Formats: sequence, C-alpha cells, structure tokens
Amino acid sequence: MSTAITELKGVGSALAEKLATLGIRHLEDLLFHLPFRYQDRTRVSPVGSLAHGQEAVVTVEVVHAEVVMRRRRALLVRVADGTGSLVLRFFHFNQTQVRQFEKGVRLRCFGEARRGPGRLEMVHPEYRVIAADADDAALDTALTPFYRTTEGIQQLRLRSLTDQALARLDSVVLKDWLPVELMPGLALPSLRDALMIVHRPPPDADVAALMEGRHPAHRRLAFEELVAHRMGLRRLRHLTRHLQAPSIVPGNELARQLQAALAFELTGAQARVLAELGEDMLSTEPMLRLVQGDVGAGKTVVAALAAADAVDAGYQVALMAPTEILAEQHLLNFSEWFEPLGVNVGWLTGKLSVAKRRDAIEAVALGHSRIVVGTHALFQKDVVFDRLGIAIIDEQHRFGVHQRLALRQKGESGNQVPHQLIMTATPIPRTLAMTAYADLDVSVIDELPPGRKPVTTVAIDSSRRDEVIERVGLAVREGRQVYWVCTLIEDSEHLQAEAAEDTVATLREAMPEFRIGLVHGRLKSADKEAVMKSFKARELDLLVATTVIEVGVDVPNASLMIIENAERLGLSQLHQLRGRVGRGAQASSCLLLYQAPLSRTARERLGIMRKSNDGFAIAQKDLELRGAGEVLGTRQTGLAEFRIAELGRDDDLLDAVSEVADQLMTQQPTATDALIDRWIGDNRKDYGSV
Ligand code: ADP
Ligand code: MG
Repeated sequence: MSTAITELKGVGSALAEKLATLGIRHLEDLLFHLPFRYQDRTRVSPVGSLAHGQEAVVTVEVVHAEVVMRRRRALLVRVADGTGSLVLRFFHFNQTQVRQFEKGVRLRCFGEARRGPGRLEMVHPEYRVIAADADDAALDTALTPFYRTTEGIQQLRLRSLTDQALARLDSVVLKDWLPVELMPGLALPSLRDALMIVHRPPPDADVAALMEGRHPAHRRLAFEELVAHRMGLRRLRHLTRHLQAPSIVPGNELARQLQAALAFELTGAQARVLAELGEDMLSTEPMLRLVQGDVGAGKTVVAALAAADAVDAGYQVALMAPTEILAEQHLLNFSEWFEPLGVNVGWLTGKLSVAKRRDAIEAVALGHSRIVVGTHALFQKDVVFDRLGIAIIDEQHRFGVHQRLALRQKGESGNQVPHQLIMTATPIPRTLAMTAYADLDVSVIDELPPGRKPVTTVAIDSSRRDEVIERVGLAVREGRQVYWVCTLIEDSEHLQAEAAEDTVATLREAMPEFRIGLVHGRLKSADKEAVMKSFKARELDLLVATTVIEVGVDVPNASLMIIENAERLGLSQLHQLRGRVGRGAQASSCLLLYQAPLSRTARERLGIMRKSNDGFAIAQKDLELRGAGEVLGTRQTGLAEFRIAELGRDDDLLDAVSEVADQLMTQQPTATDALIDRWIGDNRKDYGSV
C-alpha cells in the first residue's frame, strides 16, 4: 500500500540506502520527515531593519570594496540600500570576485546579519549580481525548509525529493483518514494542507510556531500520530483478550490471614484497588493492570494480598523488581508475611551461584516455591513455572516495554497466560497514561497511610557542608536515623561507589561516635542485605548510599535525608529518593545539597522540590521539563518515542485523541489498519509479538 522511495526520480539503491538511515523508506516517511527550521527568502528586508542573528534577503548597491590584511586576509564589501548599510565579509575569494564588486553594482544577498566592528555584517553571504531594474520576481514563494539529514545527502536533494513527494499528494497514496469533521473544535487543517504548510510554509506563516511544533499544521500531524499510537496499543490489548488466564476467587482464607496479621488497616484507596484487582483476576481474561501510587502509598501490601489469593487458588506468583536491592526488600517483606502462613518464598537473581540457581529453578519448576521474588533473572528461558497465576512487576518504569511484552509471554502455554500486575511509583499523568499505557488498565492508590507527615525540604549550597554535618549529629542524638545519598552525573556504579566511600571516610572522621554504614551497587548482594538489615534494625545511625536506594527501601525510623549534587538529578528521581523518608510517625526533612552556580532548570527543579510533596504535580512538571521518553524510561524501547508528536507539548490534544481513536476503532476498521500501518509500520513487530 505504501510507495517505495525508489519510485521517486533520481533515487537509486545507493541513495535509498542513505535515506533508510534517516528512517525514510517509503514516500510517507519522507512526507513525515519534517523540517526542523526554515529560512525566509520570500521577501527583501530593508537593511536598516536587520537585527543581529537575523537571516534575511537584502537588495543592495556596492558602496566600496577592499581587501584588508588584519589577522586574516579578508575582502570587505560595504553595501547599502538607502535604509542602512552593511558589510559583506569574505575570507575565501578570488580576483574575479574582487573586481566584480564595483561601486554601484546591484546585489541580491542572503545571509545572517551579525554584529561586526562598527556595523552589521554578513559573513560569506549567498549573493548574485542583478540588473539595475530587476524586480522581486526571483524571490522564493515559500519559506526554505531545512531537514535533518545524513552524510552524503544535501539539503537541496532533500528539498527536491520532498517537492516530488508533495507533487504526488493529490494523485496518490496518502489518504486522509481524519477528515476535519472528525476533529470538531480543534481547527486543524486537512492532512494535505498540513503537509504543504509544514514543508513549504507560505511567506506569512508563523515560523516560530512551526519551529516549536505549535502550528496547527504541525498539530494536525501530531494528532494523527497520537491517534495511531493509541489504536496500536488498544489493539494489542484486544489481542490479549483472546488469551485465557486462570480465574481466581479473591478474598479467600490465605488473604484473610495475611490481612489479620498486618499491624494496620488498609486505607480506603488500597481497599478499592485491591477490589479492582480481585475483579480482574476473577475473570479468565488476562488482567493487565497498572497500579500507580506515590512513594509510600503502600503498593506492596496490596500486591501481597493479590498474591495470597493466587497462592490459595493453587497458582504460583512471580514478583519482579528492577534492582537487586529492591528485590531483596521484597523478599524480606514477603518472607516475613508468608513464611508464618506456611507459604514457601523462592529467590532468583542473576547473582546466585550455579548450584543455588539450579536449586531455585527446580523449586520453581516443581511448584515448591509458591512465590518467587527476583530481578529480571526471572525472565530467563530456563525458568519454567509449574503453574504461574500472576506476575507482579514493581517499579515498572525501569522495565522497558519489551520486557513488559516478554513477561506477558512468560508462563504462556497454549493460549494460557498469567495475570499481570504492574506497580509504579512514577505517577503518570492521566493523559500520558492514556497514550503510553493504552494497553493497560490503570488503578491509582491516591491516599497515603494515615499519620504521614509531609517531608520538609530545603536546598543548601554545598559550601555549607559543615552545618549539614552538625545537623546530622543533632538528629542522630535525638534517635533519628539518617540517609546520606551520594550521586554523580556519570552513570557509573564504579564512580558512584568511590564517591560514596570517600564520603563515608569523611563522615566517620567528623562523627567518630556514630555508627555509619555504606551501601552501593558494587557490594555483594549478601553484604548489601546485611547492611540494609542492620540499618533497619537500628544498628546503624547513618547510611551512606548511592542511588541504589532510590526505590522501594523502607525504613520508617529514618527521618532525615541528605542528597548530594541534587542539582544534577531529575525531579522524579529526587522525589523517589526523598520518598525513603517521611514513612514513620516523625516529621522528616530532606536537605538538597547543590553546587553553585545553578542553571535555570536546576533552580526550577529544586524550587519545585521545596514547594511540593505531591508526586503527581512533580511528575507533571518533570514531563514538561524533560519529555515523556525520559520520564517513562522508554527512550530506548522506542515506544513512547514519536516522530512528530511530543507529550508535554501536545498534551491538550490527548482527550480528543482518545475519543477519535476509540471511535475509529469501533466504526472504521479500514482506517484503523491504515493509520496503524502508516505510523507504526516498521515497529509493528513490537505490538504484534503478543
Ligand atoms: P510503596 O507504595 O512506596 O511501595 P510500601 O508498600 O513500601 O509503599 O509501603 C510503605 C510503608 O507503609 C510500609 O512500611 C508499609 O508497611 C506501610 N503501610 C502500607 N499500607 C499501610 C496502611 N494502610 N497503614 C499504615 N501503614 C501502611
Ligand atoms: Mg514499593
């Protein structure tokens, strides 16, 4: 259905190969390969109106030309048009050129005006000599586009190819599946008009809006892409409907026992979400549910109660976490909860010895381990479950979409699949969830357990470290426990570990009377576990840690956290880290140490952290500052990566996107297929592999 790029004039296999590196294989790809900036060669600007940095066409007369020898030999040509004068500066030139610039010769130039010594200059402008009576006929009729390109493909070539593709718009291929009536109130142009405007903007177009992607033409294309994306994910969801999962009756004996053993009542939000899970699991349609809850909202208990239901019904449970340390926390919790009830909890990570791993795998295969906790080692091919009923993934944003898909296949036999529960502490704005997680149902634990006090947050220049150490001393003397988090910009566990070791040495020297522990990613997992255990048991006053403690670590008595180099961390990461305190009855504080001077965004981030404890508000800000790919950690997976749309910028479209997508899916299967194919085409295997 799509037209191969080789059908265009002048595109042979060599050029086609180069175009393919830009992701351009079909005519459509070329049409959706949008310019990232424009030049205005449609009109002549008066020289007197030019500003520094402005690109413009001018029509001028030569006043004077000379070759000067300063640091570098240069040809300087003074030109004027009656409104002002300008210098054309050439470093590379020949004698013919020098002679050409005789006084009184008329030139049409295009270049960027820059401040020079004395007056504005254009360095190496494009120019041509024009006749004295020449009018403006030779000007362009549209703005000149610039495309992202690759070695060996000139802008001119891309322009002529897009010219060809645009010329075919009327006759061919690109059917407009979203007629204007379908998008009432949005005031968006037709597909054809949108493409014409974006590639060849008329002289009066709002260039700034085009370059920022805010122009209606741009939004029309983004809209279509978002619609296609949502339909792709919804279809993925429909496909799983044909699969079967075990029907599990909720709220049975084991779950009741577990709930009775807990030291607290569930919050209203926890109870509501647990009921939603129960309803899902009762059905033979596989559950695919994302449970969101701010850090400390109590997701783990909810997962454990759902796990209890599955175990009681005779099924196994897999619980997966993205890091060893988080998996260890879960192992601790689940063992504490389930072992007294006679349920075996297994343990499987990549760091097990060969013998231990073999035993663990055997226990899983034979069904002795009713619950298995681990890292992505649970994904490995040789791990075969006896009867997997539910797979629980914690802190989903660390798992890519591909892993999400792989997991979905885990435990699949014939058309039998396990239920799936995904937990995330990255609060995902509703609109984003509708698009990026359109294949999932979403539950939100939007209430914190009672008695939680908001964490007081302050930002402190790291030159005031001594005061901070003093404050730590005071806190410890009051019986509080403290985290000291070392961060580095490099994503190197090795360097992080080194920095943490240095910090421990300094702190031990400054506070010899305190018990100070250290945990980082390079410790053996038994050692890590031992340190975490003694911190939890209050055998340590202060825990120096790297960002390995970012997620899941739960020590309610810890009520002070210091975060070093806080200016380098993103909002979500800061919020996650800060979530380690404020879990107990005590009022907690978080000190964000920063290195001055702060950039504008760093200042903004620290300001937001000081003002807000609300994970959703912070996530929304994070999205605005960083974009969706980074927030969701899906940059590498390509799923939240759009060609044209940008979450954050195009969020206001998303309500209409869902509406239109859902309407098309029920009413227009042909359009649905065509749009998914058009926009998701080559990535389709990601969607189809379920
Ligand atoms: P998260 O949602 O961040 O994973 P956790 O499940 O780790 O949160 O819970 C944080 C802490 O709150 C744990 O110590 C847990 O035992 C406790 N907790 C969970 N639910 C409740 C509740 N309903 N009442 C009191 N404490 C709770
Ligand atoms: Mg958790």
